Amino acid sequence: MVTREVFWNISPLGELIFYLIALIAVVIFAYGIYSHVRRILQGKRVSFTVRPLLAKLSAAIASIAANRTILRHDAPAGMMHFLIMWGFIVLFIGTVIVTIEYDLFQKILGMEHGFWVGSFFLGYEVILDTLGVLFLIGLIWALIRRYGLRPPQLTWKPLDLALPLWLLFIGITGFLVEGLRLAATAAELGYDPRWSWAGFLVSQWVQTASVGTLRAWHLALWWMHGLLALGWIAYLPYAPKVMHILSAGVNLFFQDMRPRGRLELLDVEGAFERNEVLGFQTLKDLTRKDFLDLASCTECGRCEANCPAHLSGKILSPREIILELRTHANEEFPAFGRPKEHKQIIGYSIKPEEIWACTTCMACVEVCPVFIDPLNKIIELRRNEVMIQDKYPKGFTDVFKGMDGRGNPWDMPASERLAWIKGLDVPIVSALAASNPSPDFEYLFFVGCAASFDPRTQKIARSVVKILQHAQIKFAVLGEEEGCTGDPARRIGHEYIFQILAKQNIEIFNNYNVKKILTICPHCFNTLKNEYPALGGQYEVVHHTQLIEQLLRDGRLQLTQEIPATITYHDSCYLGRYNRIFDAPRAILQKIPGVKLVEMERHRERGMCCGAGGGLMWLEEEPGKRVNELRVQQAQAALDVHLRRPAAGEAVRSRRSLVASACPFCMIMLEDGIKSKNAEFENKDIAELVAEALG
Ligand code: SF4
Ligand code: SF4
Repeated sequence: MVTREVFWNISPLGELIFYLIALIAVVIFAYGIYSHVRRILQGKRVSFTVRPLLAKLSAAIASIAANRTILRHDAPAGMMHFLIMWGFIVLFIGTVIVTIEYDLFQKILGMEHGFWVGSFFLGYEVILDTLGVLFLIGLIWALIRRYGLRPPQLTWKPLDLALPLWLLFIGITGFLVEGLRLAATAAELGYDPRWSWAGFLVSQWVQTASVGTLRAWHLALWWMHGLLALGWIAYLPYAPKVMHILSAGVNLFFQDMRPRGRLELLDVEGAFERNEVLGFQTLKDLTRKDFLDLASCTECGRCEANCPAHLSGKILSPREIILELRTHANEEFPAFGRPKEHKQIIGYSIKPEEIWACTTCMACVEVCPVFIDPLNKIIELRRNEVMIQDKYPKGFTDVFKGMDGRGNPWDMPASERLAWIKGLDVPIVSALAASNPSPDFEYLFFVGCAASFDPRTQKIARSVVKILQHAQIKFAVLGEEEGCTGDPARRIGHEYIFQILAKQNIEIFNNYNVKKILTICPHCFNTLKNEYPALGGQYEVVHHTQLIEQLLRDGRLQLTQEIPATITYHDSCYLGRYNRIFDAPRAILQKIPGVKLVEMERHRERGMCCGAGGGLMWLEEEPGKRVNELRVQQAQAALDVHLRRPAAGEAVRSRRSLVASACPFCMIMLEDGIKSKNAEFENKDIAELVAEALG
């Protein structure tokens, strides 16, 4: 007889009791899932179409299978998770196979064997033992990481220790049970036990014991293993931390595949008359996807560890935003009983200071392994605070006044918009249109408010003009007709002002038959490219780093002037994380003769914000908690490393030290940080460096 039956050492009564307990575990599990689904269905519907459905399915499977997000941002933790996840999946599939074989083929159909024979069985044994061992290694690694290495973002609740230990005991008792069975049935086994290599090693360790002792230990450990596993199944939907095993895949599948830089358009026209709530006031306003996000959070803290607000000592933590909303949701939609009265979120579960510390940098969204979006919740909470409650930090009053009254957050008169062109020959669209109803220009150079009014960033616009003229590109500016894109108002939460400004700009663009827009500001770039289409404004939008890089590749620009400098590049969030433009700025810098490019520790996808986004440029930050100062220290550290360790024969002391940026907002923040930290480097926009290198 081939001995591999699951219940070979269990009495028929024991078998029956086991199945009864299994049934209870499944019922408890199913109720837990039901209460999650019931809570999620309280949310508003989200639009879902078939075409992205297939893309979503493949993206979700690929992302989960490869553990892509964790591996990209934290390779050791990603590897650890990879072992646990694949170990868990394979062991689970293995258990399902055994159950089908035993219950269906052997018990119900009365066959001696189903498909669990021959090479399939032997392969199954090798794979399960190997993945089982890797599963244990992953769990031990997780315990060492959490309790030995102690990364600051990980929490210390007692249950955090219990859960991996629970799985560890399931795994260890599983191998002990296998080893004891192999040792006790060695004579009648009917196959080479070395195929079950991990169990075989255990059997070698216990083989000297009598069969009676082996059977007694097997019986005790079999029950322990079975009950631990069933208990785990029953508990799974009630343990928020491990619930992600089930919800992460669903959340990935339902992720928003539209451009990540766009915010949902709000129907603000007549909203007051319709007595509509704008943004998130209570949990009633969340969507089903938002509730799914809350159920999926693993509490891993990666979002917190990358949040500039948190890193600079502010009250905000994106993980806490999610967990506070989750606790609130569990209170109002309990697993048992009827939903409770809805409380206003701000002031009850979330403090206003939390949402007003967010720079909208998207670092939390970028690193979240289960594709949770804390940022969209913050924006929706801001929308309600601004448009319904009329509550926001005082610093925004002038920003709204300027944008509403004069079309720019600086509250400057439109006549000042051309101050930066003094001494330059810059064509203005209205003047061109006066002589030709179809003005002849390739790019509309959308200057943006910062480079129009701020004396330091005006130099970026002047450099871009020099570059365009050098490459003989036909362009024109709107001058007094240009208005703010509306980005600061939108990110602060004022959708009304955003839509007014956006519609005005779109009307002007369409009047002049604009097809291509060039911007130097990543905030303008993101809004024009990703958000104007929802209001009917479709244009080809390019950032100046993209255009310059193309011109260099086409040979239309030659950088001949050497700039002996060590440069570290600061990624703008709205250019990098929002629009995935990481390579073009670096490619340009590498083409400038004499430039040595060094990277900060936080760069590209993990680049840290300058602190200006989300309208925060207009808020005063507490000394000692300034994001821009932290970023300047990071830049200084990167440049210092190079100064300490120059390449062989390099005279670094004679070189300039620079941080390069590609955003006027970043420049304003970095310049301020450099001054307050007395840093020993300059800040230049990439356009300024290119203009200098043109000679
Ligand atoms: S968007 Fe940036 S600042 Fe806001 S919560 Fe996320 S990581 Fe923090
Ligand atoms: S939101 Fe995502 S990154 Fe943040 S703690 Fe939850 S799972 Fe981790």
